[in-house]
Amino acid sequence: MSGGQQAALEYLAHGQTPFFRLPAAGRPAAPPAGCRAVLMGVPFDGGTTATPGARFAPFHVRRVSAFVQGWHPVHRLAVFEGTGAVDGGNVVFPPFQPAAVRERVEAEALAAHRAGAAPFLVGGDHSIALPALRAAAKVHGPVAVVHVDAHLDTSGPEVWGEPFHHGTPFRHAIEEGLILPGQLHQVGLRGPWSARTDGDLGEAHGATVTTADEVAQLGAAAVGAHLKAMVGDRPCYLSFDVDAVDPAFAPGTGTPVPGGLTSREALALLRALAGVRLVGMDLVEVCPALDHADLTCHLAAHLLFEGLALAALAPR
Ligand code: MN
Ligand code: MN
Repeated sequence: MSGGQQAALEYLAHGQTPFFRLPAAGRPAAPPAGCRAVLMGVPFDGGTTATPGARFAPFHVRRVSAFVQGWHPVHRLAVFEGTGAVDGGNVVFPPFQPAAVRERVEAEALAAHRAGAAPFLVGGDHSIALPALRAAAKVHGPVAVVHVDAHLDTSGPEVWGEPFHHGTPFRHAIEEGLILPGQLHQVGLRGPWSARTDGDLGEAHGATVTTADEVAQLGAAAVGAHLKAMVGDRPCYLSFDVDAVDPAFAPGTGTPVPGGLTSREALALLRALAGVRLVGMDLVEVCPALDHADLTCHLAAHLLFEGLALAALAPR
């Protein structure tokens, strides 16, 4: 496997800021042979119901991701060489037509899948998970999903009169048959619901819910190991909403909820998934304008690093 990071001096000299100092794969992304992961920014926050600004996350996560080194001391793995990961640029579109945005995201994620690489979409708001799952299901069939979030994201049009926004991707994914029954695993849930019935759709689909409190009680590594056992050898998509993490650790997000995972728990959770057949990931809801000292952006970069490690370790 070729690839890997540019040396620090090389990176500084050219003045560009690709994810993790990785090689660029052109536009639209054309992953080279053997590449197992393509990082793509999705600078879209038109699905946001509260504070917008996640459209700027790809730029800021790229900037701070340059600090992340390549060797994973727990997995004992050269993550970037192991994945041959590349920066596939940003999925671009005029931001005024969300349906067109979804089509564009699906098309570019699909191209990565068809090239044999897992798309890693850096949002943007969580509405981009729906086209990402549509693309994954087109190639892999319905998938298992590990969904890390403070929120269920299975709302419908009842609040806003609009069926597509960042609180609804998993409702559509269930209804469209993109997720295997019993294989939506939601972690980090907490906070008040709008009504007693909020969990009904997931429950009817056999979704598992592990609250933030349960992660604290059981331990993140144990929760991750249990998730891995439940997912088994099914193709697995990882959707990580950074608001799963407590606002004390991840203040840069538009819909913060107190009482979340620590950053250490979030990283341990992903590490414990090693061995799942990861086919794609999104990292969403980072809002740089609300961030402090790049805390949330640094965390996002490290969560992506853990996700890339899972791609490197995934059985073929
Ligand atoms: Mn959320
Ligand atoms: Mn979400």
